[in-house]
Amino acid sequence: AAEAPFAEKFVKPTADKPLLACFNENPLGLSMEARAAVAKSAAVCNRYPFARAETLRKACADFVGGKPEEIVLSQGSAEAIRASVESYAHEPGATLIIPELTYSDGEMAAKRNGMPVVKVKMGKNWSIDIPAMRAAAAEAAKKGPAVVYFVNPNNPTSTIADTNQLFDWIRSQPKNTVFLMDEAYGEFVVDPSWKSTIELVHAGAKNVIVMKTFSKIFGMAGLRLGFAYTASPELHKRVHDHIAYDFFMNTPAIEAALAEIGDLGFLRLSNSENKEARKIMEDLFKELNLEYLPSQTNFCFFNLKGPLEPFAKAMKAENILVGRPFPPALTWCRISYVRPEEMKYVADVMRGLRKKGVI
Ligand code: PLP
Repeated sequence: AAEAPFAEKFVKPTADKPLLACFNENPLGLSMEARAAVAKSAAVCNRYPFARAETLRKACADFVGGKPEEIVLSQGSAEAIRASVESYAHEPGATLIIPELTYSDGEMAAKRNGMPVVKVKMGKNWSIDIPAMRAAAAEAAKKGPAVVYFVNPNNPTSTIADTNQLFDWIRSQPKNTVFLMDEAYGEFVVDPSWKSTIELVHAGAKNVIVMKTFSKIFGMAGLRLGFAYTASPELHKRVHDHIAYDFFMNTPAIEAALAEIGDLGFLRLSNSENKEARKIMEDLFKELNLEYLPSQTNFCFFNLKGPLEPFAKAMKAENILVGRPFPPALTWCRISYVRPEEMKYVADVMRGLRKKGVI
């Protein structure tokens, strides 16, 4: 039933309506049920959403297999990331540990609060070097709290970290160390070796906060909803105390999330289109002999072997927007997957740019 309303009608992008392959959004938009729920919610937007926020908290708990009191709702996962980092920022000796190439929210939150940031060099193929991260965190933990912001699968690389190394590290319960696990793209992973750290929270880990978002597979980036999940009452309180209260969530967002969170049909459709788009791009990379990383997300990361700017400009001239530069991977480009027919169009444009010598 989810398929019919999303029958794909390809429309060539224009300067006014470019193809957005730049922000890792769900190109389907909200599910039809969520659209109806948002429209219906207009009639009750004069009321505070206390009760519905609690209903959502329970639904998020069910989604991760936890308890409602282990969930803190947030405005996008961005707010949960900020709140978690800020809850440590002003403690003596606190340090944020991040890989050099990762999503920027953790680092920005730390910098705004004058918290030192240690950036750890990447491993082979832009992988997260867990032994190096571990060493850096151990060093930082001698001075104060070591706060590890770990995005898995990672953005912009699209790849997953080594599960055994990561789980060993967290399970070793290093002193003075907390793990902020950002799993924004977890629902897109197909590699069976990947495991969510939700599993560790289930097992009672007291050093982990898992961040989830409704912005990616749920297609709700404009509604701003996410949550933090932790089995530690202390960590829960930290996030909660640095966040706008739960009842600051807005009613349309709550209703959209409640409509989608149990909608397996919509999640399946989002995932199957994502896989189609992924295959179109991987086939293209092979055809054009472009190096790329094995994507486990809704975007890909590939090597232009030259500067990004001329390529991004040429794509923009064709009304396709691609990802921004991600130092230090300055010859690499991130392209978010769009709907399959759109993705084929992107691939054709790139074939044309190869002929013109741009790629
Ligand atoms: N975490 C990661 C890894 C992301 O890529 C993004 C957005 O692109 C976010 C968090 C923030 O998303 P939001 O605040 O919309 O949940």
